[in-house]
Amino acid sequence: MQKNDVIIIGAGGAGMMCAIEAGKRGKEVALLDHAKKIGAKILISGGGRCNFTNTGVHPGAYLSQNPHFCKSALSRFTQDDFISLVKKHGIAFYEKKLGQLFCKKSAQSIIDILVAECREAGAVFHPETKITTVKKQGELFHVETNRGGYTAKSVVVATGGLSIPKVGATGFGYEIAKQFGLEIIPPAPALDGFVFDEKLKKELEGLAGVSLDTIVTCNGVSFRENILFTHVGLSGPAALQASLYWKPGDPVSINLLPDTNALEWIKSKKAKGSRAEIKNLLLEFFPKSFAERFCALYLPSSTPLANMPDKILDSLCKKLAHWEITPKGTVGYGKAEVTRGGVATDELSSKTMESKKVSGLYFIGEVVDVTGWLGGYNFQWAWASGWVAGQYV
Ligand SMILES: Cc1cc2nc3c(=O)[nH]c(=O)nc-3n(C[C@H](O)[C@H](O)[C@H](O)COP(=O)(O)OP(=O)(O)OC[C@H]3O[C@@H](n4cnc5c(N)ncnc54)[C@H](O)[C@@H]3O)c2cc1C
Repeated sequence: MQKNDVIIIGAGGAGMMCAIEAGKRGKEVALLDHAKKIGAKILISGGGRCNFTNTGVHPGAYLSQNPHFCKSALSRFTQDDFISLVKKHGIAFYEKKLGQLFCKKSAQSIIDILVAECREAGAVFHPETKITTVKKQGELFHVETNRGGYTAKSVVVATGGLSIPKVGATGFGYEIAKQFGLEIIPPAPALDGFVFDEKLKKELEGLAGVSLDTIVTCNGVSFRENILFTHVGLSGPAALQASLYWKPGDPVSINLLPDTNALEWIKSKKAKGSRAEIKNLLLEFFPKSFAERFCALYLPSSTPLANMPDKILDSLCKKLAHWEITPKGTVGYGKAEVTRGGVATDELSSKTMESKKVSGLYFIGEVVDVTGWLGGYNFQWAWASGWVAGQYV
C-alpha cells in the first residue's frame, strides 16, 4: 500500500495544476492516470496549438446550474496567472482572435510546462494505472489499482468529461461522485456540431465546406462568428458555441446578413429598377452555391427583382435575418470538445472544490458542472479549479 498525502485521479490540465500547487505546499502527491501518454487532450486541443486561455475570461462565459460557482476560482487564478506561467517557460504564443491565446509551435509546450512544474513540485506520475475501487475508511481514502493500492487523506477527481473517448475520456468521475452520494447534472456533448434531419440534409446537400459570417442565436444567447456546412449538418465556431445552449427540439436562428438590413438593401435595389435575379444579387454576400440553394429553397420563381412582389421579398428577407433550423441532434462525444453537466456545483465548495458531504474528496476541471465557451475558457477553468483545490488538499 503506497502512502501519499494526495491522490489525484486524472493527469489532465486540472489534475496537473492541482498537483503543482499541492506539491509546492510540501504534500506528497500521486497523479494516477489510466492513459500511457500524459496530457493527450491538451495535445489535440486548439488544432494542435492549444488555445490555453482567453484574455477576456469572465464568469458570463460559463454555463452551470449555479452561474456564480466559477467566480471564486476564476478570480483567484486568472488568465494572467497562466500567461505568466507560459512566459516563465519562454513559450511563444499569439492571440488569434477574440482574446484567444494559442501556442506558436505546439500544444506539447503546455504539457511540457505542466509536467516540468509537477516534477519540480515533487508530484509523481503513475501512468497506465487502472483504478478499480475508491473507498473511504475513517479519515483515509484507499484507492485500488492494477498497480497496487494507494492511501491518502485527500482524493481529487480530475477525470474530465466524456468527450473524445479515443484519447482516454471516461465517465469514471461521475461514477465516483454517485458512489459517494453526490448529485450529477446529466452530461451532454457540447461545443459540438449540429446534425440535420434527412429533409434538411437533402435540401442543403452540396454545401459542405461553405463558411459564412453570421450571428447564431440559441435560447436567447447569440454568437457572431462563422458557421461551416458539413456533410451532416453545421459546424464552425458560431454553431459550436450555440450547441452549448441547445437542447433536443430547440430551434437555432441564424442571421445570415449580420451587418446588413436585408429588406432595406433589397428594396433599394428594387427601387433602382434592378432586373437581376436575387440569387445573383446575393453574391455580394454569399458564395454562389449558397446563394443559389437559398433562393431555390425560399423563392417561388427566378423572376427578376423589379417584378418580384414585395410580399415575397419580405418573407425572403425575414429568412435572411432569422433563418431558423431545428437540428436533429449533435454529432456526439466522438467529436464534441466538452461535456456539459457533471458533478453538481451545489455539492462542492466553490472556494476549495471539496465535497460538502465527503471531507477530503475534491472534484476539479471538466468533470464539474461548469462548462465554458469555445476560446480558451475551458482550459482556464481547468487551471483555476485545479489551482484552488491545490491550496487545500
Ligand atoms: C478536440 C478538443 C479540442 C479542445 N480545444 C480546447 C482549446 O483549445 N481550449 C480550451 O480551453 N479547451 C479546449 N478543449 C476542452 C479542454 O480540452 C478540456 O475542457 C480540458 O482538457 C479539461 O481538463 P480536465 O483536466 O478537467 O480533463 P482532461 O483534460 O480530459 O483530463 C482528464 C484525465 O483523466 C484521465 N482519466 C479519465 N478517466 C480515467 C480513469 N477512469 N482512470 C484514470 N484516469 C482517467 C484521462 O486519461 C485524462 O488524462 C478541447 C477539447 C477537445 C476534445
